Amino acid sequence: MIELSLTDDQRQLQELARKFAKEEIMPKAEHHDKTGEYPHAIIKKAWALGLMNTHIPQEYGGLGLGVLDGCIITEELSYGCTGICTAMEANMLASAPVIVAGNEEQKKEFLGLLTTEPHLAAYCVTEPEAGSDVGSIRTQAKKVGNEYVLNGSKMWITNGSVANWYFVLAYTDPSQKHRGMTGFIVPTNTTGITIGKKEWNMGQRASDTRAITFENVKIPEKYRLGKEGDGFKIAMSAFDHTRPSVAAGAVGLANRAMDEAIQYAKTRKAFGQPISNFQAVSFIIADMAKDIEAGRLLVYKAAWTIDQGQRNTKFAAIAKAFCADMAMRVATDAVQVFGGYGYSQEYPVEKLMRDAKIYQIYEGTSQIQRLIISKEIFER
Ligand SMILES: Cc1cc2nc3c(=O)[nH]c(=O)nc-3n(C[C@H](O)[C@H](O)[C@H](O)COP(=O)(O)OP(=O)(O)OC[C@H]3O[C@@H](n4cnc5c(N)ncnc54)[C@H](O)[C@@H]3O)c2cc1C
Repeated sequence: MIELSLTDDQRQLQELARKFAKEEIMPKAEHHDKTGEYPHAIIKKAWALGLMNTHIPQEYGGLGLGVLDGCIITEELSYGCTGICTAMEANMLASAPVIVAGNEEQKKEFLGLLTTEPHLAAYCVTEPEAGSDVGSIRTQAKKVGNEYVLNGSKMWITNGSVANWYFVLAYTDPSQKHRGMTGFIVPTNTTGITIGKKEWNMGQRASDTRAITFENVKIPEKYRLGKEGDGFKIAMSAFDHTRPSVAAGAVGLANRAMDEAIQYAKTRKAFGQPISNFQAVSFIIADMAKDIEAGRLLVYKAAWTIDQGQRNTKFAAIAKAFCADMAMRVATDAVQVFGGYGYSQEYPVEKLMRDAKIYQIYEGTSQIQRLIISKEIFER
């Protein structure tokens, strides 16, 4: 038997997030897009309402909700603004390695930080010379006594300047390739950390993206996650938890683009009638509706699978690839429905098209998702 309806609790969460997006995010989204100002005030309110850190277990102060519950919230927040939502969701990516591999003390200290105060965290894996090819990172952590000394540079780190702690992936033994990587928790007030300028990106400008440099940063051994050599596995397993949510964000954006296109198509007249009367226009919107529905079901499947305690790597990659590509297509088509006005910053779909692009790039590009899906098919 397949049950596709949401529970009462999930519906309540959805309504709370929808109301928050409408009242708190949408009125300020344009300001944050234009100025690049970090949405601190919105994040504080969302944190106070329990819309952040929902995945953190109750014993560390979180709500202990499932990945599916988180996806329902993310879709609604992303409808409001994906840049603001990404700023909020970076905590999920940074904390996933701690949830997956942290010991009791690490969980209490670092997950507890996120739930007792509206603190933020960041996931530091990508480097200037290594994105998809994680094995090519150069950052190294050398063991000296009961500390590690960290040196290297990370790139494109979401929440880089506002985080209280980082998850950092580094080589402890480069000769072992992927098996020589280790994950660390690094408090951001540690000496030797330099934070780069805010990157002025194409879209999602409310989110803070920075380069981070580590120069002789001393990390106590107690902040190592798991054993030496476990880092790659830990860093990648985080994505099984977070990719469904990234895909949910893409669905939220696509849904917003479709709603904007529908409204515009009903009111804009050409040749004496609303453009929605033209099949060429209404079919664009029909395609949006069917692709959004399909994307949402893929999100739910990927999220539900991991919530059941089952391996979801393939489904998470399928959902991420499909929804990212779909959101880009839907946002581009929404611009088309708006005609010349769609190309103007005065109308909302121009921002949606810029914001959509990053879904095909971060947390693994659309090409890398296909690589994962094909590996899962042919090698497992
Ligand atoms: C706004 C933003 C926020 C980000 N946030 C974070 C963050 O918080 N933490 C973090 O660690 N990283 C973050 N990233 C980095 C992001 O995950 C990487 O940009 C992404 O993984 C791609 O890596 P790259 O940019 O080095 O591109 P590359 O790996 O150089 O890829 C370039 C192109 O080659 C393709 N390609 C590469 N290898 C293959 C292959 N084997 N087969 C087929 N095609 C391939 C890619 O798909 C892409 O089209 C962020 C990036 C951006 C832009």
